[in-house]
Amino acid sequence: MKTKLQVMKFGGTSVGDAACIARAARIVAEAARENAVVAVVSAMRGVTNRLVDTAHRAGSGDAAAGATLTDGLRQQHHDALAALVPSEKRSAVACRIDEILAEGRRLFDGTALLRELTARALDTISSLGERLCAPIFAAALSELGVRGAAIEATELILTDSYHGGAEPLMDATRERCEARLRPLLQEDVVPVATGFIGATRDGTLTTLGRGGSDYSATILGAALTADEVIIWTDVDGVLTADPRLVPDARTIPEISYREAAELAYFGAKVLHPKTLRAVMPAGIPVWIRNSFTPTRTGTKISQQGRSIGGGVKALTAIRDVALISIGGPGIVGVPDVVGRTFSTTAELRANVLLISQSSSQNDICFIVAAADAQRTLEALRREFAQDLSHEVVDHITVDPKIAIVAVVGENMRGTRGVAGRTFAAMGRDNVNIIAIAQGSSETNISFVVEDTAMKQALLSAHCEFDLGGEKCEVGVGDGI
Ligand code: ADP
Ligand code: ASP
Ligand code: MG
Repeated sequence: MKTKLQVMKFGGTSVGDAACIARAARIVAEAARENAVVAVVSAMRGVTNRLVDTAHRAGSGDAAAGATLTDGLRQQHHDALAALVPSEKRSAVACRIDEILAEGRRLFDGTALLRELTARALDTISSLGERLCAPIFAAALSELGVRGAAIEATELILTDSYHGGAEPLMDATRERCEARLRPLLQEDVVPVATGFIGATRDGTLTTLGRGGSDYSATILGAALTADEVIIWTDVDGVLTADPRLVPDARTIPEISYREAAELAYFGAKVLHPKTLRAVMPAGIPVWIRNSFTPTRTGTKISQQGRSIGGGVKALTAIRDVALISIGGPGIVGVPDVVGRTFSTTAELRANVLLISQSSSQNDICFIVAAADAQRTLEALRREFAQDLSHEVVDHITVDPKIAIVAVVGENMRGTRGVAGRTFAAMGRDNVNIIAIAQGSSETNISFVVEDTAMKQALLSAHCEFDLGGEKCEVGVGDGI
């Protein structure tokens, strides 16, 4: 009888090449001695980016790009397979790689011929990386004496039909996972599911959004009522800030769902923003661990987290955003300007990350993902066309050169002085603040700065709240 049920997800870097896949497979094989394990794998590092980029090129008529990419991917995946599995045992997986790539090639050719990339085709093309990786990973497991079975998550995760950001339908997903995965687990097989993808009721492939394999893992964890979900990545857990920007960022041993969700929402790439949604109702803990240093315990994300008595726990920042502002002295008189603004963004499904309105109502500004900025601007100009022509609204503008910085911690509202210290630190280090929003969620204070000042803002706040653990010097940043 196995002790627990674990879902283990390996991100792109953790399956980046044959050596990484071997390391990840060893982690699974080790765990599978004691526990029932479901593995979830991403595409090999960089593959999804290349697929998406080539899909867009095909959409603009480039017929050669798809052929070049599929040739490259064939080589890369056969090489990885060859390094992991002896030749006499490779043929089934090798055939599968070729089948998937032949399908990919047809998709690129069709897209180039039509000169049109539909959202549906983009999803199917983007899914190829995960579909190529899972059979290789399963074969690597079998080499370690653990029976692995590659499974495409189109068989497991049922979603709505919103391509590029589909939502799971949990009841149906639960039924499918019970039917497809439970029997394998009972026979001591480790299912190796593709991350990132699902399918609609009629079988059309969907994706959960870029970086969505984290979400796949928690969806499967919730569907099977797993004891824990472990997200294996390339850093030692959730850190006090992005280590690429703040070199002395430290691992946070334990953090609450709310804090981690807030960090993810404001750009901490280590977790897809929706990851925790799936496991919160059942209280399943999620661990973030480093597949390159598996002896370290990483970060535990749980309902309670570990209280540090309120105050700042971590920082995050998000750069791919744009500030949209609608203003003019006459907008006080424009009927329902706020309602109309946000019904427009809702219709576009544009994600609004931060809102700030001056109390005089002369100006409303809000932030959306950079990818949504242009169409949001156009839709607002249509919505307020009359008001613009009568000059009651005198501008609707977009500023893409900004970043949001968020200071995150449980119960910050109850901790006096966090806002004061944050903004004093910014002032001291010459970081100009464009807008501020203190969430009523109590878990974050976020503010907008010029994108060139983002790194300095993080360094200053990290230092101010002593998140690196050793007293730092003020104004050490080189970001401005
Ligand atoms: P994976 O391929 O495993 O999904 P990602 O690249 O999506 O990995 O996420 C891991 C990266 O997230 C890290 O390499 C790190 O640079 C970045 N990151 C950003 N903010 C944080 C943070 N607060 N803690 C840990 N990592 C972070
Ligand atoms: N491979 C997908 C991506 O790059 C999903 C993931 O890695 O989480 O977006
Ligand atoms: Mg990721």
